[in-house]
Amino acid sequence: MAIYNPKSHKAEEFINHEEILETLRYAEENKHNMTLIRQILEKARPQKTENGLHCTGLNHWEASVLLACDIPEIIEEMYRLAKEIKLAFYGNRIVLFAPLYLSNYCINSCVYCPYHTKNKHISRIKLTQEEIQKEVIALQDMGHKRLAIEAGEHPSMNPIEYILESIKTIYSINHKNGAIRRVNVNIAATTVENYRKLKEAGIGTYILFQETYHKQSYLELHPTGPKHDYDYHTEAMDRAMEGGIDDVGLGVLFGLEKYKYEFAGLLMHAEHLEAACGCGPHTISVPRVKRADDIDPSVFDNGLSDEIFEKIIACIRIAVPYTGMIMSTRESQEVREKVLELGISQISGASRTSVGGYTEEERPHDSEQFDVSDQRTLDEVIGWLIDQKHIPSFCTACYREGRTGDRFMSLCKNGQILNCCHPNALMTLAEYLTDYASEETKKKGFSMIEEELKKIPREKTREIAARNIEAIKTSDCRDFRF
Ligand code: SAM
Repeated sequence: MAIYNPKSHKAEEFINHEEILETLRYAEENKHNMTLIRQILEKARPQKTENGLHCTGLNHWEASVLLACDIPEIIEEMYRLAKEIKLAFYGNRIVLFAPLYLSNYCINSCVYCPYHTKNKHISRIKLTQEEIQKEVIALQDMGHKRLAIEAGEHPSMNPIEYILESIKTIYSINHKNGAIRRVNVNIAATTVENYRKLKEAGIGTYILFQETYHKQSYLELHPTGPKHDYDYHTEAMDRAMEGGIDDVGLGVLFGLEKYKYEFAGLLMHAEHLEAACGCGPHTISVPRVKRADDIDPSVFDNGLSDEIFEKIIACIRIAVPYTGMIMSTRESQEVREKVLELGISQISGASRTSVGGYTEEERPHDSEQFDVSDQRTLDEVIGWLIDQKHIPSFCTACYREGRTGDRFMSLCKNGQILNCCHPNALMTLAEYLTDYASEETKKKGFSMIEEELKKIPREKTREIAARNIEAIKTSDCRDFRF
């Protein structure tokens, strides 16, 4: 039997089944243990230090007790704490991105995914470089600056060379004042050598969802194809880090397995990256299984209620306070509204999950990966965020200034967010408002900027930010950053 060891690079040792089962037993036994729960909440609270606020986070045992706890007052307290942590380290900024589907050719057979190899009636499309160029122009014309590229796994149709060439194409396009300044990549687990190539191509985060940490279920949900190899998939982030990528994004596809198991596995994965590779995950995504072509989510019997989903998000926020959290348009406006406060720091907007979807007038469904619940335009999403008092941010500064991996974390930990991320968010919002927004969004956006500028503590930074925003409004000068 494998022994749990977070420092090991072997999947069965750092995501150890017995360790998860024991964690869940402990959580169940202690879910009403008020003394322990109070201690855990105290430990997770932001503490004042000479460099500002600091949080220690929680390990998977402690966080699992919180997740198991069903006492309404405690859940309320967890939500208050999650909001406090979110505000302390991420402020009220929400970063925006869009997915860009390059190709849905795939040789895997993931039973929840419409791109599975046996699906013979879905349109299979692979974008040419010219088509990618058109998609990118459409995305730039909306105002996007940050993309996540997505592709099925197909060694001959979507080899690494195709992905690298596509990244180069995306970065090379500057339409009007537009630019894609950060390309995150969500492609199947690959080799250290390929991760090194992705790093050299200038990617932001490498994102790979574990789908499920439960090995037996994983093998059944991925019956054939390279993705069937649980260990290779689970150890992918170790190889990515070995290849020099220090911003990696984890995620579970909620609904496939029991959520408490997934939650413990996800935190163990984060602890492992910190222990074995020296830096925890940059982001955690929280997708839920959705209806799609040939896919009926109700066949997976572990679907979550919105309430449990919110609780998971709050518990992740409390356990890993410095890790960004991503939510896609799989979720409705209503759900997104609630969880933005509880810990989400990045959302996608105006997404099309079909290959070539952005250049079509009408939302196409024939090659879609999942049904999009939030179908609003980017301008509507921006207006809504402003109404909810969240600052929409198109910032990509950290990655471009080399503040990746633990260098980004130390910015967060040293309380420099208000002198750095906050003005960067305001300047990129000013770019969006000037170049792409409707009159109504522009009006409320600039009045938000005026108010938010006052919150920048350092006088010099405040003056420079205000000057840059004026330059954005009155000239074609763009891309200012701290
Ligand atoms: N082929 C790569 C891989 O296997 O990791 C890229 C990922 S795929 C384009 C992006 C993600 O979409 C998957 O990792 C999966 O979690 C999610 N996904 C697939 N089918 C879904 C569905 N029906 N509903 C919601 N999300 C889905």
